[in-house]
Amino acid sequence: MLSWSDIDTVFLDMDGTLLDLHFDSHFWLTHLPRRYAEIKNIPESKARDHLKRWIDCERGTLNWYCVDYWSERLEVDVGQLKTEVRNRIAYRASATAFLAWLAEAPQRVVLVTNAHPKSLSLKIAETGLDRYFERLITTHDKGLGLPKENPAFWTALQDTEPFDPQRTLLIDDSLPVLTSARTYGIRHLITILSPDSTAPHRPASDFPGIHDFGEIMPR
Ligand SMILES: [Mg+2]
Repeated sequence: MLSWSDIDTVFLDMDGTLLDLHFDSHFWLTHLPRRYAEIKNIPESKARDHLKRWIDCERGTLNWYCVDYWSERLEVDVGQLKTEVRNRIAYRASATAFLAWLAEAPQRVVLVTNAHPKSLSLKIAETGLDRYFERLITTHDKGLGLPKENPAFWTALQDTEPFDPQRTLLIDDSLPVLTSARTYGIRHLITILSPDSTAPHRPASDFPGIHDFGEIMPR
């Protein structure tokens, strides 16, 4: 599937790629509606409806990933509520073996995530994943300010983290992100078929997909 000698730069997504998407799904679909209902003293079904409508409106935008935006919009401390379920933050199977191998490999390895810096900090505190990377980039960083779903993001990224698109690999569970990277010209693209260990596997797509990083590591 991959010839590692053709790759100089590896961009890795965090949630649903290295980390189990279960934490995020559980937080947004279960924990937040429950806690929001408690805090606002409204029925949970009503909280769920409100949240779903608001969240769907922002899908694919930088706001959708922004802890501060949601804290202000919902008038609850979303960062604090996330810490209440932090014990659910976990690596996907084989992610640490892959990261440890990559850290010794010649490629430059960079985390490129839409996660808000507060979410990233919480995940680093729980997993120590920063130790495997030469650089951590969130799309909320100064000079970026666009989500990965926007092809213009990759142009902006090039200014702060120069890369040869023909010799770059992006692994990301999001198909809109992979589509945007392909539009920009990134050549090596891989998706994750089981981003959430508690949800059904995703169907095959246009992009090569893996369940386990062992599938792309040299034997
Ligand atoms: Mg992801």
